[in-house]
Amino acid sequence: MTIAFLNDQFLPLEEARISPMDRGFLFGDGIYEVIPTLHGKAVGMNAHLDRLQNGLDELAITNPKTKAQWTELVSELVTKNTQALNSASVGVYIQVSRGTEMKRAHGYPDNITPTVFAFAFATAAPPVPDKAAVVTFDVASGEDKRWQRCNIKSTSLLGNVMHYQQGRQAGKQEIILLNSRREVTEASSCNVFVVKEGIIMTPPLDHQILPGITRKLVIESLAAEGVEVQEVPVTAEVLFSADEVWLTSSSKEISPVTSVDDKPVGNGQAGDVWLKAITAFNKHKFTL
Ligand code: PMP
Repeated sequence: MTIAFLNDQFLPLEEARISPMDRGFLFGDGIYEVIPTLHGKAVGMNAHLDRLQNGLDELAITNPKTKAQWTELVSELVTKNTQALNSASVGVYIQVSRGTEMKRAHGYPDNITPTVFAFAFATAAPPVPDKAAVVTFDVASGEDKRWQRCNIKSTSLLGNVMHYQQGRQAGKQEIILLNSRREVTEASSCNVFVVKEGIIMTPPLDHQILPGITRKLVIESLAAEGVEVQEVPVTAEVLFSADEVWLTSSSKEISPVTSVDDKPVGNGQAGDVWLKAITAFNKHKFTL
């Protein structure tokens, strides 16, 4: 049994209840974050809380907690669930919806109290920095059919959920999405990096992708080692002729992709540049 947090109260997750009139339920009207922790230490806390604030600002929802209060909540949830989860890697999910109103109307209501929900869960162990032992990903590709505000970490995830399922139906663990210009945007739940002829590239930040915190930490940790990442459009042609492809997210950190649509990436194994990147990431991830 794990302990969750709902509207200022800790309680067993199974007992957490909200009204079906919550706008998070009716409209997906809310923002969420997933903050990774390892042995109780958070990775990228400040950046996650900045992104939460940006998302809430976009939706004109008042942030119900200060950064210090969120940090405290994350750490309390990890502590309260350490025994139950029995895992060195714990993710903390936090969600703020606009709140509950006893009528269903699209317009933002005045004077509504946001609903705050958070819980902790065990995540897969981070990738091991070993080319032969790391868990690799086989992915599909497909046209990005989501909305024009993918930079907002909204709880309205249906587009992402449907794309993830599309990949799964193709027998793959993720799907890399391409816009109408056949440029890579991101994957259904991760950002994408490619390496070609020694150049590391990732699509630039705009409305088409989530500004991933892992993406940011990867760029910064490589920069700290004197290695540049180019934030440039990545065409399908570059993707399919890349030497390496990586997925980045809070739970996957940097994970190598070894095939796209059954075509091997490079030599079909985790690459040397990936090893350099995960080594830099591990060196800097708690201090950036
Ligand atoms: N893109 C999407 C669509 C995501 O849902 C996520 C988070 N799972 C990411 C990218 C990666 O973001 P982060 O590194 O902040 O986990």
